Amino acid sequence: MWALIGVPGALAAALGILAIHSNLSAPFHTASESNTLSGGLTGLVICSFDVLATAVVLFKGRLRTVLDLWVTIALLASFADASLNFLSMAQFTLGWYVARVFSMLAPGVLVCVLVWEVTVLYRELSEAHASLLHTSTRDALTRIYNRSYFNDQFRREFDRATRSGQPLSIVMVDVDNFKDYNDAFGHLRGDACLSAIAKALAGTVRRSSDFVARYGGEEFALVLPNTGPDEASVIAEQARLAVMDLGLIAPIPAGRVTVSASCATNQHTMLSTPNALVQAADAALYDAKRAGRNRVQSVTPGQ
Ligand code: GH3
Ligand code: MG
Ligand code: MG
Repeated sequence: MWALIGVPGALAAALGILAIHSNLSAPFHTASESNTLSGGLTGLVICSFDVLATAVVLFKGRLRTVLDLWVTIALLASFADASLNFLSMAQFTLGWYVARVFSMLAPGVLVCVLVWEVTVLYRELSEAHASLLHTSTRDALTRIYNRSYFNDQFRREFDRATRSGQPLSIVMVDVDNFKDYNDAFGHLRGDACLSAIAKALAGTVRRSSDFVARYGGEEFALVLPNTGPDEASVIAEQARLAVMDLGLIAPIPAGRVTVSASCATNQHTMLSTPNALVQAADAALYDAKRAGRNRVQSVTPGQ
């Protein structure tokens, strides 16, 4: 950075000193006493390029962006500067100085606009990326985490628990007799019921490492890192009660919508795969269903 700023600065100072000592310091002349510019042809060429470039920018960009606007202004500034020199052939006049300042400022402003546009673009891109990431991990109906997130994150938590020797619990939750609910009230109300249940379940996990995902259909999974079997059973019971507290009317048996839940904890045996823990929880869930539904069944593999 120091080289980028320092070298042009030192060069400008050296050229300034050289100009002063060789009597080329910029004086102030009136047009009548000014020097004539020998580069008339150069001015004509620059003017032609400016006109061509302005036409291209206007034709292609049609001033749709701020950048196009500033490129046009910079080109017009350059055109004004070059044509002033070309027509008046006068150096060191007031007009000449104004043109110098203007043509120095225009590219500077252009660079600022360019940086601003790139920054805005970068911010929009990062917002779009964050929103895409959020949508890709959420379930479209319930807005809680989806199966894809569960698969990735559960494996990560499983590996972490295996490395650290800490317990990892999973609570599988299945809505009781949900087919009958759909048959009685229709799928739209069934969807609303699932959303309400998902919200209630999400309210039962408190720690930042815990999460609730929709495992599939009317099944949900609560993943509880660093949680032993006793604590997991308490959370599963809280989840069951939270759904009952919603007071959603169920057709069969006449009463409230309920869920069955199962807990499985990877603690002492340390299972080799995450699927083995899910399978253990699944088996316990069927036990809960067989035992009459609306209950929690716990299992610690290897015990
Ligand atoms: P059990 O107590 O044994 O779990 O009985 P169940 O009726 O809940 O189980 P079953 O597997 O027979 O039925 C699950 C039902 O869940 C069937 C399916 O239509 C419904 N379901 C799954 N996903 C959705 C969904 O996204 N929206 C709605 N409305 N229903 C769904
Ligand atoms: Mg089911
Ligand atoms: Mg069910």
